[in-house]
Order: sequence, then structure tokens, then C-alpha cells
Amino acid sequence: MIQYATDRRWRFSDSEALDLVGRIARTQVGFFGSAPASPITVVLAANEVTADEGFDVYGVHTGSSILVLVDPDLTWGELEEHAASVISHEMFHGWLGEAIPQSDPATLWFTEGATSWFAARMLTAAAVWPPDHARRTLQARVQRDYRDSELLGAMSVADAAAGVMADPRQVRFAYAGGVAACMALDQWLGTAGGIARPLDEVLRHLYRNRDGTPLSRASLEAAVSAVTGVECGWWLDEHVYGKTVLPPVDRVI
Ligand SMILES: [Zn+2]
Repeated sequence: MIQYATDRRWRFSDSEALDLVGRIARTQVGFFGSAPASPITVVLAANEVTADEGFDVYGVHTGSSILVLVDPDLTWGELEEHAASVISHEMFHGWLGEAIPQSDPATLWFTEGATSWFAARMLTAAAVWPPDHARRTLQARVQRDYRDSELLGAMSVADAAAGVMADPRQVRFAYAGGVAACMALDQWLGTAGGIARPLDEVLRHLYRNRDGTPLSRASLEAAVSAVTGVECGWWLDEHVYGKTVLPPVDRVI
């Protein structure tokens, strides 16, 4: 069951918003094969608190409920472009973050990086974002917040992500670095293991075999090995837990 709730009238209709939420949810349920919990509830509410450098769209999730706070004057275009990305991200955490629990700071790079990357891919699969738009958005973010960051080479992506209360620059580096790490890992595993989009299957494997144990570096490596036959420990030591710059990727979406 997919629910949409709100506390006001927007510039778009409730049925349009419900349709958008439904498309994103059905795409993600289809990707994993089942819902982590039912209902999946999305609450859209106005954020009346604004600051010069504050969030313009803000999302939180608990269980399979998602609260998205947006500008009271949000247009349909902004909903599709910005709010949909936050809805997709927070909804994906229902699987990666909740069903596959996240509590070890050492795996935050993966939980947030994969969720951010797959949130964009789910939006293209749901025909909310054109593939070109998703590609440009992801590439621009990786370039600005990872490749052009002064933290590149000075701090590992895993360490940056583990510091959840860090300054905004480090948080942006951690998220963009997590996306870059997941894309590069997917590409490397694809070449080394000879299968297309191996991380898709790794995520499904983690979800299908979940037992309530929080994601750990060991369980991630075991899932990669089970799916691809590749031991990825040294690669993660180099590029994620170490400071070696991640290789660029050919295929973003
Ligand atoms: Zn997140």
C-alpha cells in the first residue's frame, strides 16, 4: 500500500502528487522484489523555516514513512526536479538503511552513496527524470563535491562519511564520494566479475538474506563475493577506506 498525505493545497493536485509517489514506490518495490513494510507513506509538508544557506528541500525517514519539507510555493516542476529526488532517496532507505539496517559508521559511505545513486536511477526508471538529466545531475555533483573538493586525497570517503556531524563541506564530500565510490565499484566489479550492473544484485542479495544484523564492511564484502565471485577488500582499502582517488566511470546511469 502506498499512501500520500499533506497538510495543504499546493500548486499541483493531490492526485498528481500521489501518482508521482506511486510511480517511484512501484519502481523501487519492483527493483527489490517486495516492499520492506506496508504501507509506504509519504508526507509532504511546508517548511516555513528558511535560512540563507539552509536546505530548500529536506527529507527524513523512519520505517517506511517519509516526511519531505518543501517551500510552501513549490511548483510541479520543482516537485519533479528536487522534491522527487528527496522522496526517492528517503524511500530507498526503507530497504537500504532500515530492512538492511545501518548503524556502523564504517558503512555509512555505502548506505548513503548507494542510496543517492540509486535514488537517481530509480527516478529515470520511473520516467520522472530523463536519463540525460540524471546523468548531468550526478556528474555535476561528483565533480563539484568530490573531484574539485580540497578534501580529495586528504581524507578518505569512508572517514568523511563516518563523521555525520562534520562541517557541510565534509558532508558534501562524503555523499558525492559515496556516489562516486559506488559507481566505480559497480564498474570495476562488472569488469572483474563479467556481469552487468553487479551492485544491483548485491543490494538484492543483502535484502533477500537480511536477518536484522546491521550492515558491516564484512557483510558487504561477503555479499559482493557471493554475487560476483570477486574479493573487493583491497579495492575498498585503496579507494574508500584509503585516500587513492576513485577512477572515473563511463556509464553513470
Ligand atoms: Zn540518506
